[in-house]
Amino acid sequence: MRARMRNQQSKNTGPEVLLRRALHARGLRFRIHQPVVPGTRRQIDIVFGPSKVAVDVRGCYWHGHPHEFAAYDRRVNLDYWGPKIDGNRERDADTEARLEASGWRVIVVWECDDLSEVVDRIALAVDERRPQKIVSRDRVPAERQPFAQPEVAGTAPTVPTRDPLDVRHAEPNP
Ligand SMILES: [Zn+2]
Repeated sequence: MRARMRNQQSKNTGPEVLLRRALHARGLRFRIHQPVVPGTRRQIDIVFGPSKVAVDVRGCYWHGHPHEFAAYDRRVNLDYWGPKIDGNRERDADTEARLEASGWRVIVVWECDDLSEVVDRIALAVDERRPQKIVSRDRVPAERQPFAQPEVAGTAPTVPTRDPLDVRHAEPNP
């Protein structure tokens, strides 16, 4: 998955879109490009509102993931692009701080991350913070009731509609 998240940058197959598809496939629902960062107009790529989980997808070069700058030519380019990258990093840190200060869990996803690992991490965070979790846990016994019935009825399959006395008359002695 590493290679896929990095290489398919064209059209609609960048890291963010790949991640969105994978989250959907996992059954997760979310909003995209939401301006939820307090005091700013910045948009967060993937937002789970009820759980207050914000997913920030970052390109490794422009957001200054250190491994990008090991090669000589990357360091040379950094002389030129460095200020822009530094600015992005500062803004990213500020975005995280603002979100966390208002109760959000921020999950940072780098384009070099393993896709399935990222999906696991997000699914876990969303599930942990889902506000309806206690409510749905209360409902579980009621929802399971229908599945429990066949086991109970299994010992007396002919009982349902007929009067017990009729059954006894219709089948005298087996
Ligand atoms: Zn990276």
